[in-house]
Amino acid sequence: MTADAAAIAAESITVGVLALQGGYVEHMAALSRIGQVVAVPVRTASDLDSVDAIILPGGESSAIGRLLEVFGLMEPLRKRIAAGLPAWGTCAGMILLAGDIDNDERRHLCLMDIGVTRNAYGGQLDSFDASTIIPELGPDPFPLVLIRAPSITRMGPGVRVLASLEGKPVACMEKAMVATSFHPELTADGRFHEWFASLARSYLVPR
Ligand code: GLN
Repeated sequence: MTADAAAIAAESITVGVLALQGGYVEHMAALSRIGQVVAVPVRTASDLDSVDAIILPGGESSAIGRLLEVFGLMEPLRKRIAAGLPAWGTCAGMILLAGDIDNDERRHLCLMDIGVTRNAYGGQLDSFDASTIIPELGPDPFPLVLIRAPSITRMGPGVRVLASLEGKPVACMEKAMVATSFHPELTADGRFHEWFASLARSYLVPR
């Protein structure tokens, strides 16, 4: 290990959670269980300046998209993610990142080369649990919680599938951007958050 790499491995990283609407508290709690990770809520452009990665939580994508405009965060967030800030969108967060939304005229951050369909897995009452093996997280199945979840209907050539359920992708990544239809923050399994924190760490540059 070089001196720079060793310094990065020893350093804490700051992971922001967009905290305008939706399930940000659960993401903060999941991050707080990981060593050398500091979780901070992000509500303003200056909050964003201090983070090494960002999580866009589940909730209501139309409401979060509107609040991003109201809080003056849409452009700063888009610019930082486009410049390489590691970002993970769960459910509504995935819709915020998607380039195409099949059943909505709105577009939000529009950064990932994926198409999604909102509410593809049905309404609130159709919410369900499942599990699948996610190779990045090891051999044990990972619990999937799907709540009015979007499906991934198109993936550009730079997008890689991370997890599938019944043959359909439910998690994917493109460069440092990750999107999941499901909610790891609502389970006791911390592996997805740990994996994202190490992805974020791999993008850290020596300060
Ligand atoms: N259906 C919601 C939307 O379209 C997403 C649901 C969720 O985040 N659990 O924004």
